This record gives sequence, structure tokens and C-alpha cells, in this order.
Amino acid sequence: MIYDVVIVGAGPAGSTVAYELSRHNVSTLVLERETIPRKKPCAGMLTGRVTRLVDYDLSPVIDCQIRAVRYRYANNPPVTRETSEPFLYSVKRPLFDSYLVHKAVSKGAILHTQSEVLSAEIDKAPFLIRTKRGVFYGRVLVGADGAASTIRRMFQPRPLLRWSTGANLEISFGHQEECCRVLRPEMLDLQLGIGKGVVTYAIPKIENITVGVFSHHQLDALEIRRYIHRHLRTLDVSDNLTRASTKIEKESRWIIPHYQQMRLPKLPVLLVGDAAGLADPLFGEGIYYAIRSAQLASESILHGLQTGAFDFRSYVDSLQKEMGREFLVLQWIRHIFDLLPRTIYELNARTESGFIAGASFANGNLSSVKFLGLLPRCCLEWLKDRTLHI
Ligand SMILES: Cc1cc2nc3c(=O)[nH]c(=O)nc-3n(C[C@H](O)[C@H](O)[C@H](O)COP(=O)(O)OP(=O)(O)OC[C@H]3O[C@@H](n4cnc5c(N)ncnc54)[C@H](O)[C@@H]3O)c2cc1C
Repeated sequence: MIYDVVIVGAGPAGSTVAYELSRHNVSTLVLERETIPRKKPCAGMLTGRVTRLVDYDLSPVIDCQIRAVRYRYANNPPVTRETSEPFLYSVKRPLFDSYLVHKAVSKGAILHTQSEVLSAEIDKAPFLIRTKRGVFYGRVLVGADGAASTIRRMFQPRPLLRWSTGANLEISFGHQEECCRVLRPEMLDLQLGIGKGVVTYAIPKIENITVGVFSHHQLDALEIRRYIHRHLRTLDVSDNLTRASTKIEKESRWIIPHYQQMRLPKLPVLLVGDAAGLADPLFGEGIYYAIRSAQLASESILHGLQTGAFDFRSYVDSLQKEMGREFLVLQWIRHIFDLLPRTIYELNARTESGFIAGASFANGNLSSVKFLGLLPRCCLEWLKDRTLHI
């Protein structure tokens, strides 16, 4: 059989392409290396705008609705900020990803798990793709195979120039009450000012807490462990550790790629999500961009299948239009954060307008440019507050 579209990878990006195309009756095959549900190093944090991006209900896989942040900066006392509306949502990645791929299967996509793609021959139509479990044919190939994408390396040999390091572990408490005692279910716990471009976090889930580190620079295994365990100590879980019901898993880490403008070969091949380097350079948010890039890619593929013209320039252009400027702004804030972390902390955590601006951006109610435009107001509020305290 010749599939219209073969998608490599069943993460949020691959599943969304499969969902969008299958519901338009396009024959779609998803090839996934692992079994589903599969593990993925991830904090499992969705910004509010993700919940409005898909046309189905995500609530069955959402653990906690987050509307408060506790900030710690170096050894200063913690500062807590809250809003009435949630702006972040925590999920367990294996369940979230499995939910998304089953949505695609329910629309008719074919899923083959334990089918690692090894190579592709795409210079003549239909192209051929080789996996550990056989050979498949298709008309359009989508690389949704994550940060270390095999498909990207085949067709775009340029290495990734920019990436961040992310790592986390899960503490399972066995009881939700224990979890709530350590961290309120509506609160994200952030630690800043402990290393250049480093943030550590704790995120509440049902019966679990995810503790992790995100760094703009490469960290070795020892540094990762040191940062994560430093955050663990601030959570006061020592009582729980003596209980049999509490388990701490070993930390897992992965790279978070950042966008460089894409040059697609003149072939029916597209890259989406992490494979295209689409994660935010400031905090490493990738799920929103994985799903959105998949939707944009699907529009381009549908057009190509209808017209027979597989020129995916429209996809690259819409990526640049929707995300290029946003990544530029976030990259700019990242530089300030690396050079002057205290400034970012003061403006985001110590001013109400800075906190609300961050929450509105996460909820999709504020563009990155408007977000940046609020900077003078945050500075004024900060100055007024300081003057009152002198
Ligand atoms: C520690 C850490 C924490 C993070 N926290 C967050 C967060 O809280 N919020 C957020 O929005 N983002 C977060 N991210 C980023 C987010 O995880 C990614 O951006 C997102 O998973 C990208 O989705 P994707 O579908 O493009 O790729 P992936 O989710 O990586 O999926 C790729 C899939 O392709 C499969 N695959 C790979 N190679 C092959 C092959 N050769 N053949 C077949 N299948 C293959 C893989 O098994 C995998 O299932 C985090 C990342 C890290 C590392």
C-alpha cells in the first residue's frame, strides 16, 4: 500500500499531523520507535494556550490547573503570586502523548509502534522508508521524530546550533494528600539565581511531583543532579522519604532545540515540532509549538495533495510569521536573563503587572511583542514600589 503521508514519531507533533490529515480522509501512517505510552523527559507543563489550540477536550489528561507561582531567588525569602484564573496545566507526558495519538487513530490514522525508522529513499515517487519491522511507501514524509531527528539529519545535515538542557525526575507519593502537603496543587515552585541561565522547578501532578532543571547552557550529569537535589531539599520531603509509598525515580535528561530558519529540500519532506527545532529559547516550552507547527504543516500538505505541487514554502513562511518574531523576543529576554537574572526576577516576581503579563502570555491573551511592550510599565511599578519602601 502507498500512504499519502508517512509520519515518523508519535509525540505531540506527529500525532497532531496524523489527526489533522486523517480527519480529512488522507491515508496516514505513523511510525513510532517505542511502545505507547512511552517515557519522555519532560516537565509536563502546558501553557493555557495549548488547551485552546486543539478542537477536543484535554481535561481527561490534565492533572493540575496552576494559577500561582512561588518564586525563590538565591537565598531570598520566597515570593508567591496568584491569579484567579489558571494559566498553566500539568500533565503526565506518557498519558498526554498516548491520548493525542489515540485521537489520531480514532480518525483513521494507522499507528505502528516499535518501528524505528532507519533510512529513507525519497528521490523518486512514491518514496520508500525502511524500519526495523519492514518497508513502507508514501507520497509525503513528515519528520516528527524529536530533537535528535533522524529525518532532519538525512535531509538537512546542518547541525543544531542552539539548544538548552532539560532534566527532571518524578517523586511519586502514592497519596494525593501527601503531594498537596509538599506543594499546593495549584502552585508552580520556581528557583532562580542559582547559576547562569539556570531555573529549577517543582510541578504538582496527581500523586506525583516533577522536580527538574532547565538551563540555557550545557550541564553535565553531576551538575544536573546537584541542581535537582538542591530543589528537592527546599521542598521538605524528608519525612516522606522514609515511607514505602514514596518513590523517587532517577533523573532523565534531554536537549531542547531552538529555532534556526529552516531550509527544506525540494522534496516532499517536512519537519515539525522538536525535529524542526521549535522550542522556546527562554523556558523550553515545546508542546505548544509542536502542535501548532503540526497544524500549519497539515494545511500545507492538504494543499499539496490537492494540487500535486509539493512545495512546502508556505509552511516555512507561516512558521516564520507566527513563531519567528516570538522566538526573537524570547531569545532577547533570555540574553537579559543570562546577564541580569535578578532584573527578570524583580520584574516578573516582584511586580503585579510583570506577573500578570507572564500569565497572559502563557494563556495566549498577549502576543510576545505586547508582552515586551509592558516592560516600561513593570519598571515603573517596580521603581514606585522601591521608592515607597525607602
Ligand atoms: C526535561 C525537559 C522538560 C521539558 N518540559 C516541557 C514542558 O514542561 N512544557 C513544554 O511545552 N515542553 C517541554 N519540553 C519540550 C517538549 O518535551 C518537546 O518540545 C516536545 O516533546 C516536542 O514534541 P515532538 O512531538 O516534536 O517530539 P517528541 O515528543 O520528542 O516525540 C518524538 C517521537 O519520535 C520518536 N522517534 C524518534 N526517532 C525515531 C525514529 N527514528 N523512528 C521512529 N520514531 C522515532 C520518539 O520515540 C518520540 O516518540 C521539555 C523538554 C525536556 C527535555
